[in-house]
Amino acid sequence: MIPKESCRLIIDYAKSLGFSDVRITPALLPTEYDKTFEEWIDKGFHADMHYLSNRVLNNVTISDLLKNTKSVIILALNYYQQEEMGNLSGGQISRYAVSRDYHKIIKKKLKQVCSYIGHEFSGETRAFVDTGPLLEKAFAETSGIGYIGKNGCLITEEYGSWVFLSVILTSLELPQELLPIKISCGRCTRCLDACPTDAINLNKTIDARKCISYLTIENKSSIRDDLKDKMSNWIFGCDICQEVCPHNTRAVPTRDNEFKTTRFNDRYISLGDILKIKTDEEFLGKFAGTPIMRAKRRGLIRNACVAAGNSGDQNLIPLLENVSNTDDSMLKDHALWALDKLKSKW
Ligand code: SF4
Ligand code: SF4
Repeated sequence: MIPKESCRLIIDYAKSLGFSDVRITPALLPTEYDKTFEEWIDKGFHADMHYLSNRVLNNVTISDLLKNTKSVIILALNYYQQEEMGNLSGGQISRYAVSRDYHKIIKKKLKQVCSYIGHEFSGETRAFVDTGPLLEKAFAETSGIGYIGKNGCLITEEYGSWVFLSVILTSLELPQELLPIKISCGRCTRCLDACPTDAINLNKTIDARKCISYLTIENKSSIRDDLKDKMSNWIFGCDICQEVCPHNTRAVPTRDNEFKTTRFNDRYISLGDILKIKTDEEFLGKFAGTPIMRAKRRGLIRNACVAAGNSGDQNLIPLLENVSNTDDSMLKDHALWALDKLKSKW
């Protein structure tokens, strides 16, 4: 076991790079987390995210990711930006998406922490940010960095749920200093009541098939008509179940310079500007280096069609008509749906 003081050095080093909180947990999770995850997969709540079901199918364990993993380091980075910038019309994007792609920023920091551990303590490491086949939020909860709320988000005492989570697996046996978590959901049901598509299950999991975040980002196919109506102006992600959470009223603005700098003027991008995009090059020109790349050009235009239909903005009709002339059946269908909705309001 590495002495407590040495473990503190690792935590302090990670915090010096901008991580807001860093905790340690043993590599073994209580079985209830795997059980909940497997039930979630069995019920098809993962939608088309087959990389998640493959994790169960292939029985991936933590030692498949790093042999001799003894400890898991959980790192949270607060990305909250307080100011409500610019105008509130247009397509809305999630708070985390206004900056550069967080994967790139956080990976760079994780690499530095891993080098430090290797250099100073000869520990083997492997780092993941959002992409690894492991239950990040479960490890985060056992580390004591926060708890999983009814909205399925990891909620921290100090920063609410506006944090990016990342994980370093290490062969070092690090001591855990477990502090009791003083917050919980209690009887609150605000997120369940506010979710427009009823995507929140009662066991703190989300039915991705109905979740606007999934529908606008990971989903590569058509969106059901009954869900389109409920998506309002969200074109990339959805923050509703976090915005209503009372623990997020304590949120403090990020201190990390890279997340303070935004790529967009505000969280509302002109729907007209998106509907005008004709080529992947134009899409790249606008969104390269941002999380929005994940939706790809087709996905973002599909989402903009839905938001346009819900907007009631008749000025978007000519642009939607242009989109409806495409050979791409998914985009055509979504543009026609929006036109139908806008014209029915005349
Ligand atoms: S992200 Fe939006 S759609 Fe998904 S569960 Fe939360 S409120 Fe519901
Ligand atoms: S809104 Fe209420 S129920 Fe939902 S996660 Fe926050 S505290 Fe828990």
